[in-house]
Formats: sequence, structure tokens, C-alpha cells
Amino acid sequence: MEIYIKNVSKYYYSGGKTIKALDNVNLTIPANQIFTLLGPSGCGKTTLLRCIVGLESPDTGEIEIGGEVVWSSEKNIFVPTENRGLGMVFQTYAIWPHMNVFNNVAYPLQARKMSKNVIRNKVEKTLRFVQMEGFEDRPATKLSGGQQQRVALARALVAEPKVILFDEPLSNLDAKLREETRKELRTFLTELQITAVYVTHDRIEALALSDIVAVMNKGRIIETGTPRNIYFNSDHRFVADFIGRTNLIEATVTSQEGSVTTVDCAIGSVICRKQADMKPGDKVTLCLRPEFIRLKRGNATQAQNVFNGQIQSLVFIGEAFEGEITINDSQLFIKTEPDSDIKVRDTANFTVDPDHCLLVTR
Ligand code: ADP
Ligand code: MG
Repeated sequence: MEIYIKNVSKYYYSGGKTIKALDNVNLTIPANQIFTLLGPSGCGKTTLLRCIVGLESPDTGEIEIGGEVVWSSEKNIFVPTENRGLGMVFQTYAIWPHMNVFNNVAYPLQARKMSKNVIRNKVEKTLRFVQMEGFEDRPATKLSGGQQQRVALARALVAEPKVILFDEPLSNLDAKLREETRKELRTFLTELQITAVYVTHDRIEALALSDIVAVMNKGRIIETGTPRNIYFNSDHRFVADFIGRTNLIEATVTSQEGSVTTVDCAIGSVICRKQADMKPGDKVTLCLRPEFIRLKRGNATQAQNVFNGQIQSLVFIGEAFEGEITINDSQLFIKTEPDSDIKVRDTANFTVDPDHCLLVTR
């Protein structure tokens, strides 16, 4: 089911102050895809999710789920949560500790007063799906974090919702389990062909899990796109910076010819992939991601996009070295192979492919 959000704003009033939690949000969430709202803490993700679910009422705008208007300030429509056909998985209190697995999953069906037989069948089928069959009688407290999340997922799925919503469901798991559960979740959701709306502040989670990512900041949707598009082709400084480690360098366009745009900045003249609608004199921001900076020892002589500098710092993190290089008083983040023999204070040079020199204007 598709979800349309039109001109939705939401204010909170607290301590005599007005907080604009959602600032005129417009969004189309396509059917049967994993759609992620990504943004820093406090940017309005939970508020937007709660408005979709019906736990919160916007101040303005309209929300439509599967062709039905479930909220409209103008038309005075409010469809209560239980009639919106949604399932939800929260960050905390994911499952009820005083119940066993079976009763946790059965709860939404019992609340709908379904017959015992129907409930048993549906619960068994759902537990099989999340690979938790055989755990029916286990007290919820005797499960690992990952198992608890699978039970929470089963409870959200058991009533066969058309849309499932997740609010940072993996944030209480440790790093390794989070990665495994993320993969599992992607498999489950893809198999189910369900519309999933997922909220996270974790960029890697968003990139790994989603079909589409909407980046939020200060109550607004900044940009929407596939993970690759957001990562490689963003036109927003905020998005380029939030979605991955990057060097942001103020630059001025010097020429726009053929398939390249050339800019002048603190590290020198940089040849970038062509960006439409730019002309000499335009002020832009050059984004250089550390993973595309190709580092070599020593000085290099003239060549396209080669920059000489000195290694300022280097930290071994196992899969790579991370550090900084100083070029003409500018410091850039760098990343290089874990078996590199480059050392701090070495003279070094790097090249960067024009295709990986992104210019953003907003
Ligand atoms: P996120 O989920 O992205 O961290 P939230 O949607 O929880 O952000 O919050 C958005 C903004 O609204 C924040 O500034 C937050 O402090 C504020 N806020 C959220 N809920 C309330 C509330 N019940 N009362 C007052 N302010 C709130
Ligand atoms: Mg939140």
C-alpha cells in the first residue's frame, strides 16, 4: 500500500516554547518497498512515524494510506490507529517480559477476539516465518536480544498488516547482532512484499536495508533517493556529510567544459565530474570521500588531480588506516589499505578520479 504525506506540519508546545517537529513534510512512500527515514536525533523521525500510525495528530496536512485518507486537518478526518491496518515495531519494550513467546505474538489477535484455533494457526505460521518455531513456551525474558526482536517482528506481522513501521528497532542490539538482524530483516521484508517504513539515525543501517532513503533534518525532508543515489549524487551538503565520512571543501567553479567541471579550492585546482547548471564564478562545495582518495608515498609531478601533502595522523582500525593529510594548510580525511607502509609525517600524494569529485550547491 502506498502512503502519501501532504503538507504535514506538527508543533509541540513545551516550557512556553513552540517546537516545529515537522515542517511541511511531503512524501510518497511506494508500495512493497523498504522506505527509510534517516536523520539525526531530534529531526522528527519518530513524530512522523507516530503521525502515520495515528498515535499523534499533525497540525496541518493530510495522510493517505492505501487510497484512504486517515488524517486530514481540512476535511476533519481521523481514522484511529487500530483501523489503519498497520503493524509496528518499537525501539524499546519490544516485547512483554511477563508473557511467553506464544502469548506475545498472539496478543494482537486475542485483542481482536479471534477464535483459539485461528490464533494458534496464525501464530505458528508467523513464528515459522521468523524462524522461531519451537520457542512458543519460552518466557520472553529467556531470549537473546536478537530473538526478542524476531518475536517483536512476529507480533507486528501476525495480523497480516499491509504496512509495517519500525522505530530504530535494532538500536539496543550490539554491533554484530545488529548487522545480522539487519540482513535477516531485509530478507524477511523482501520476501513478504510489504510496505515497510523504517526509522533510523544510523546511515549504514539505512544504506544496507533500504530500497529508498529519505534524509531528514530539522523537521524537513531534505532529499529522497536510492541508497546509491543519496551516497553518490546528492546535491545537498547536509546529505553528503550525513550519509558518509566526507571532506567538504569550499570551491569556486573556474570552467565547465566537455564532460568536466573544474573548480579552484584550498588544495588547488580540481577536475570534477560535470555538474549541470554551473558556470565560472559559482560558489560550490567539493565533496571528497576518503575511500576515493588514492594515497601514495613521496611527491608526484604534474598530472591531473594529483595533490602533494604531508600525513598528519594515521590510525589502524583493522580493515584500513584512517587519518588526515595536510595540503596547503587544509586537512583532509584519508583512508588507505591496512597493509600500507605510509607513516605519520611522510610526504605523500594522492589522486582522485574526477568521477568521485562531487560538487554540491545546497
Ligand atoms: P527523532 O525521532 O528524529 O529523534 P522526534 O520526532 O522524537 O525526533 O522529535 C522531534 C522534535 O520534537 C524534537 O525537538 C523533540 O524534542 C520534540 N518532541 C518530540 N516529542 C515531543 C513532546 N511530546 N513534547 C514536546 N516536544 C517533543
Ligand atoms: Mg526517535
